[in-house]
Amino acid sequence: MAAPSRNVLQDELMALGFSPEDLQSVQSAMEVQKISMLTALEALRKVDPRQLVDVLGPIFGCPVVHLEDRDVQQNIIDLVPKELAQNFRFIPIDRSANNLIVATGTPQNSDMIKAIQLRTNFFVRTVLASESRVTEALAKYYATTMNMADLKVDESGFDGGDAQKRKEIGGDSSDDAGITRLAHYILQQCLSTGASDIHVEPYETEMRIRLRIDGSLVEIQKVKLAWKESLLTKFKIMANMNISEKRLPQDNNMSISIGGKPVDFRVNACPTAYGEKIVMRILDKSSLQTDMTKLGFDPSDLKKFQESIHLSNGMVLVTGPTGSGKTVTLYSAMAELNKVADNITTAEDPVEFTLPGINQVPIRNDIGLNFATALRAFLRQDPDIIMVGEIRDLETAEIAIKAALTGHMVLSTLHTNSAPETVTRLLNMGVEPFNLVSALTCVVAQRLLRKNCVRCVAPDPSVSVKNLIELGFTPGFAAKARPMKGTGCATCNNSGEKGRIAIHEVLVMGPEVRQAVADKVPPMELKLICMRAGMRTLRQAALYKMSQGIVSLQEAVGATLADNNVERSDQDPV
Ligand SMILES: [Zn+2]
Repeated sequence: MAAPSRNVLQDELMALGFSPEDLQSVQSAMEVQKISMLTALEALRKVDPRQLVDVLGPIFGCPVVHLEDRDVQQNIIDLVPKELAQNFRFIPIDRSANNLIVATGTPQNSDMIKAIQLRTNFFVRTVLASESRVTEALAKYYATTMNMADLKVDESGFDGGDAQKRKEIGGDSSDDAGITRLAHYILQQCLSTGASDIHVEPYETEMRIRLRIDGSLVEIQKVKLAWKESLLTKFKIMANMNISEKRLPQDNNMSISIGGKPVDFRVNACPTAYGEKIVMRILDKSSLQTDMTKLGFDPSDLKKFQESIHLSNGMVLVTGPTGSGKTVTLYSAMAELNKVADNITTAEDPVEFTLPGINQVPIRNDIGLNFATALRAFLRQDPDIIMVGEIRDLETAEIAIKAALTGHMVLSTLHTNSAPETVTRLLNMGVEPFNLVSALTCVVAQRLLRKNCVRCVAPDPSVSVKNLIELGFTPGFAAKARPMKGTGCATCNNSGEKGRIAIHEVLVMGPEVRQAVADKVPPMELKLICMRAGMRTLRQAALYKMSQGIVSLQEAVGATLADNNVERSDQDPV
């Protein structure tokens, strides 16, 4: 369905009674809080949500459903994992043949549609529903099993707790002990689930606590509004923040001790329309995997990467989107080089982990210390190895290349999807092809895939040998492959997936590839030349992990791009 023209939408909303100022505040709420338009409109409480969706549906060219008028059958609800419905905020309401009909306040969210299709194998048709009714329906159909009154938190391992710990949580008053207990419960859940971030989010009628687990946000707890101020204050005190400052964003580190083990968090508080939202990112040093052999590299790819970083000079780049684990790969490379080199300097934004024996400089854009100025200063200090957090602009790229050409090993990251695309990106930034091929030695593109849960993994009968051949496997290899999928159990919260594994695409800049870059061949041709020179693509690496039963076919195909328009590889992805 096509997006409605701005003016039609605006006219209809103003006809409903929204003022231009209302629409302005909706716009900024959407941008700042990353909430849907419908959520923002409903939050203004100017128009009955029922009337609102009745008007918006036709504008979006989308059927409308009033969730409060119908009961959804349990067998339909069971088609969709709870956390998927909670993450994207939708309710499956009906199915017919291959179609699953889902009610949502964001009917045009293609990520959501794709995710549902991958998980359920249904085609998805969306219908518009009011956001507040979706919230009610999520609570009704996917009731969260945790109850505040059921909390039995063992706080014996927490330092600094007070004596009144056994007091029941769940009353209306936000007593101190209750809040302490809730805060500790949230932190403990974060650690026990292996989550990377905690989101503490105030909304109009309640607060929501979500954890980022294996890359996805999962709601673990709702908190009544009466507790809001005390809980936010509690976390701000723990993070040593100014508790009276509520209008400006604040950043700080927080160190707590759990079971005698110190755990660091980076805490950010940011004002939103309904109060401060707090995000805490865990900086668990023990989770920093600095043993390169445990990063998930296949042995031949690991060898290529290690040989590249041990060269006396050159530039090695690790690329991928945010959350692809590239920082960890870079840190492990530095930890390994730290054994042999004595002058390693890094410029990072921010410094996420401190490594002993390495000079780490945090970037401070507010005082003009950016990657380029830091890099320039480093060169005067004669380091052997330089790590630049990220190459974002031509200036940084050019100094990094100059450093690589003048006897330094330079490590950095770039925000690109594939190894060949990284080369193209640098050329598009304006880097001279001749300098690039002289400096660049290796590019590693990386992704994290969700692993099949080892407790409930089982052969996946929906994947046939024919499917595998269509995906590029040779018949012989397809027959040997063991496609597996998690069926869902308590360990994996019924998602079938638990933990993640990295896949890599390692491009070593050999003579053919250098020549191709110097000749500025088009991207598709460059990719083909890289593959001929021995680069295994991310898709091939993902399919290989699938053939071993480590990840599902949906995950392998969903998390990587097809090697389209590239000649079919006559080799198996091994
Ligand atoms: Zn499981």
